[in-house]
Amino acid sequence: MLKKPVIQKFDKDLFKNSVVYNVKTLYRKTLEEATQQQIFQAVSYAIKDIIVDNWMNTQKEYQKEDPKTVYYLSMEFLMGRALGNNLINLQAYEDVEEALEELGIDINTVEDQEPDPALGNGGLGRLAACFLDSLATLGYAAYGCGIRYRYGMFKQEIRDGYQIEVPDNWLADGNPFELRRPEYAKEVKFGGYVNVFVDENGRNCFKQEGYQSVKAVPYDMPIVGYGNGIVNTLRIWDAEPVECFQLESFDKGDYQKAVEQENLARNIVEVLYPNDNHYAGKELRLKQQYFFISASVQEAVEKYMRKHDDIRKFHEKVTFQLNDTHPTVAIAELMRILMDDYYLTWDEAWAVTTKTCAYTNHTIMAEALEKWPIELFSRLLPRIYQIVEEINRRFVAQVSQMYPGNQNKIAKMAIIYDGQVKMAHLAIVSGYSVNGVARLHTEILEKQELKDFYEMMPDKFNNKTNGITQRRFLLHGNPLLAQWVTAHVGSDWITDLSKISGLKIYAEDKKAQQEFMNIKYQNKVRLANYILEHNGVEVDPRSIFDVQVKRLHEYKRQLLNILHIMYLYNGLKENPDKEFYPRTFIFGAKAAAGYRNAKLTIKLINAVADVVNNDPSIGGKIKVVFIEDYKVSNAEWIFAAADVSEQISTASKEASGTGNMKFMLNGALTLGTMDGANVEIVEEVGMDNAFIFGLSSDEVIRFENFGGYNPMDIFNNDPDIRKVLMQLINGTFAPYDTELFRPLYNSLLNTQSTSKADMYFILKDFKPYAEAQRKVEAAYIDEAGWAKSAILNVACSGKFSSDRTIQEYVNDIWHLDKVVLPKRAENPKVIGK
Ligand SMILES: *Cc1c(COP(=O)(O)O)cnc(C)c1O
Repeated sequence: MLKKPVIQKFDKDLFKNSVVYNVKTLYRKTLEEATQQQIFQAVSYAIKDIIVDNWMNTQKEYQKEDPKTVYYLSMEFLMGRALGNNLINLQAYEDVEEALEELGIDINTVEDQEPDPALGNGGLGRLAACFLDSLATLGYAAYGCGIRYRYGMFKQEIRDGYQIEVPDNWLADGNPFELRRPEYAKEVKFGGYVNVFVDENGRNCFKQEGYQSVKAVPYDMPIVGYGNGIVNTLRIWDAEPVECFQLESFDKGDYQKAVEQENLARNIVEVLYPNDNHYAGKELRLKQQYFFISASVQEAVEKYMRKHDDIRKFHEKVTFQLNDTHPTVAIAELMRILMDDYYLTWDEAWAVTTKTCAYTNHTIMAEALEKWPIELFSRLLPRIYQIVEEINRRFVAQVSQMYPGNQNKIAKMAIIYDGQVKMAHLAIVSGYSVNGVARLHTEILEKQELKDFYEMMPDKFNNKTNGITQRRFLLHGNPLLAQWVTAHVGSDWITDLSKISGLKIYAEDKKAQQEFMNIKYQNKVRLANYILEHNGVEVDPRSIFDVQVKRLHEYKRQLLNILHIMYLYNGLKENPDKEFYPRTFIFGAKAAAGYRNAKLTIKLINAVADVVNNDPSIGGKIKVVFIEDYKVSNAEWIFAAADVSEQISTASKEASGTGNMKFMLNGALTLGTMDGANVEIVEEVGMDNAFIFGLSSDEVIRFENFGGYNPMDIFNNDPDIRKVLMQLINGTFAPYDTELFRPLYNSLLNTQSTSKADMYFILKDFKPYAEAQRKVEAAYIDEAGWAKSAILNVACSGKFSSDRTIQEYVNDIWHLDKVVLPKRAENPKVIGK
């Protein structure tokens, strides 16, 4: 592959020596004696050594240039494996591959030893990871700030068709890339009460007393920019007890407190909550939020004050981006530090805070909105609550002045209302920017969900359509296609994805079409082998690979997909000779551990798979595969192998989606609703190169405003749908327990429970979906036509790079300074750890 000049030249012999040396000093072994895991560790430490030079160099440059810095505050960073990505961004992947080969080591085997750091649920956490990659690559000073969960997202095992959650002990073998930084530890305080007094200078003072505290200790992970020598930092906080278990405590009678603080520290970072788009309201969750936010904000302020003397200008050098409302306590924490530690007045502190914090909204779904009971919030964070109360008091006064006598406005907009603290309202009122994550989503925020706020402060609102990093999801995940793209348009696409549009002229080129389809085929073989190894199911790489991978959620409608598969199966059973192009339906999805219908949908998919895959009468024309433990590392292979990208959420529910963009980049055609970023994907690639169906978001919202629709009308009038639904309760797919899938049946037809029947319009969209699926089949049979559309999808994906998204955040929100490192002549020094 073509390369730009690198900052440091890779020294192959040095690297090889380093690997051997590391195996010796880490494990007292020779290379021949070492296990694959030990070799992975040794290779990673050798690479880390190179990275650390660049890391120090970058931070030195930041120290000198003093650029404005963004702190991306997020409860989740779904990083995926680091080794391969670091090699890619160091432009050293092929060199290392060759060096390892000379040592008799296969790079893929080594990469496969690394556990996925799964410190996130799904799209929101992965977006944070893509953003860090783009920030470093574009040369912007940035920190990701989060939590070093001891257990990340659970590992999913499928037993008897059911999801089993297995703890993810990702740190069991140690994390070679992280660096513990005890010198930056911070104390974080919970509970107690606020003592108000006047000090010797006549200032009002607020002192938290009778609290429990934990020590937050940061671990830094390097974020390597592509080919530019820049290395930023992901800082994740671990919790340790403030006082260790000392005799002193016994003497003072503080035994109880010592134990409590030890337990608090142990619990707080224990586990990532496995809910995606769902708020559970747990006390420990609020503790996690304040824990990492207090530590991050304290450090940001201290770092600023090490170089500057006027805290009133903090916002000129620092900005906080809140990834959803989870980090919103940052607003009150910054106010607290500015007033209580730096003695700013309320107005001075407010002026700084409201120019520092910006908020990204990720969802309009009611069950995802964070609202903390006052009782819990004020008990856990007494000083923070006082500040939120005052922000609310002033805001409500402002609303009253603007809308005299309009109690309804206050009810809808207040930060504290009805016994609850509404985090989204706090973020909107106190932030200088509110952004949605796709054009349609931002429009819905402005016109519906946040209409009152938009009318009061329209200038804050803006859209930043999400993106993904092409370095991980094409260059690393799909090397064959990456090489092919580079051969046709050059390698500039790696850091400027708009350049990939150069492929358009090859869309109708017969040779290019053949090469493209051949690469797709090879990627399908790679995935088929993975599926055989991990699922024991044989799939035909010549069949259409129709893929839905994403979190399991009712709004994402995996149920629509599997019901349609049941319908196809029924059709084939009735008419075995009918024209039918072989299709492999691939699912991958984790369900929140407590989400009954989601977990039951996984069981249904596996139950249908059991019947369909083993029914000789349909001649293997349909295969259904549920890939266990969907995560970033296997996602990279799945996107590369997909023909059809299922993006079938109920219109208006998916804020953006980013999986849709990864599929497009890898040449899959979108089968989807006009929801989230699908709208913009179709705008780029054209309606002819996608399959769009179903209710529009306006139609869905209209139905919702009139109390839903009646799915019984469809059930009664459509025999195909009726047959499929009856199969949920007549034992076709669960002969041993005919009632097993009753809750899914009820969710579609019955209002007996608390929610509306078919809230997600599955039956309403069923026939339009089936019609779109018929068009997919017809289109795939036209080989040249399909190849053309697939190539155009790749060629039109330029907009969906997270580099574009980040540049928009920089231009419109953050206003960061770009940093370019001077080229360094000398080679990296050795090495060894
Ligand atoms: C991209 C990605 C997601 C988000 O997928 P959506 O289809 O946008 O919901 C979730 N999980 C993983 C592992 C991903 O890579």
